[in-house]
Amino acid sequence: MHKRLFIPGPVDVAEDVLQKLATPQIGHRTKEATELQKSISEKLQKMMYTNNTIVLSTSSGSGLMEAAIRSCTRKKAAVFSVGAFGDRWYKMAKGNNVPADIFKSELGHPTTPEMVEKVLATGEYDLITITHNETSTAIMNPLEEIAKVVKKYPEIIFCLDTVSSLGGTKIPVDEWGVDVCVASTQKCLGLPAGLSIASVSEKAYNAATQVEFRGLYFDLVELVDKVRKNYQYPSTPALPHMFALDYQLSKILDEEGLENRFARHLEMAKYVREWARKNFSMFAEDQYASNTLTTILNTKEISVSDLNKELAKRGYMISNGYGDLKEKTFRIAHMAETTLDEVKTLLNIIEEILDL
Ligand SMILES: *Cc1c(COP(=O)(O)O)cnc(C)c1O
Repeated sequence: MHKRLFIPGPVDVAEDVLQKLATPQIGHRTKEATELQKSISEKLQKMMYTNNTIVLSTSSGSGLMEAAIRSCTRKKAAVFSVGAFGDRWYKMAKGNNVPADIFKSELGHPTTPEMVEKVLATGEYDLITITHNETSTAIMNPLEEIAKVVKKYPEIIFCLDTVSSLGGTKIPVDEWGVDVCVASTQKCLGLPAGLSIASVSEKAYNAATQVEFRGLYFDLVELVDKVRKNYQYPSTPALPHMFALDYQLSKILDEEGLENRFARHLEMAKYVREWARKNFSMFAEDQYASNTLTTILNTKEISVSDLNKELAKRGYMISNGYGDLKEKTFRIAHMAETTLDEVKTLLNIIEEILDL
């Protein structure tokens, strides 16, 4: 039996979108391939509120995260982490021999503009990474305030992980001054896993041209050069995925509309937060609670894994807490095509199982 997924990726994919993966193949050096990438670029630029170059990579989101930190760090990267996915940027830097320091917040707390200011004021760094929406804790960082601080340091390449938020909440890339904004397809965008998406600024591109060892497959300069030349790729791109992405972006932009989509995500988030407060407790402070998933503090000390077993019998799946937060918390994703009614049904079933 298929389990309805309330986990923060992969998400359930609409049947008509899945069908697009089966589109007959085209040559990747043809005019049709150029048009496909161009169409995707224009739609993603709208969704990301940016004029920057859009590149895709046949990898999950981590691929272009690694590309960004490796290709664009000339001096040293300042990695701000509020959880597992923030830590991942640091591991990528270390694994690629890229100089980096990590600045961690206590679990459940955000990266603050003050932290960023203090670190950037040292003048030691030329790149920073921020996690917009930390999926391991469901914390959404205060990007508007952080962006204001970063703008005071024009030499900094600003890399932002929006893997679990792009498509579910507004990410105004140009307004925030984000140089490399990275996302994946299998979270709020409502597609299967397998494509990494990024917007790349001219500033990030110029920085990357000054870095000698950028690797090959994830070399941002190569990727941007090719896309700028004729909207193609150095290697064969995942064309099935691109057909589905192009189609899904049209559905999002023209059928649902961005504002409606963001409002739907927020409405679901508010409902789950209210339920969490009534029955358990919220892990995040209100002002930093994510719009795309919620982490609930397991104040009733239920067995989360038993709950998930019972949910599975009824055709549903949620997520346990991440890492050290396993069983201490659990996570409910409300992203992609999920509706408020589906969320209500899920929560009713949980109440029934737990006899709340
Ligand atoms: C899922 C996730 C990642 C990793 O993305 P992949 O597509 O699995 O490589 C990185 N950052 C955040 C915030 C995520 O939620």
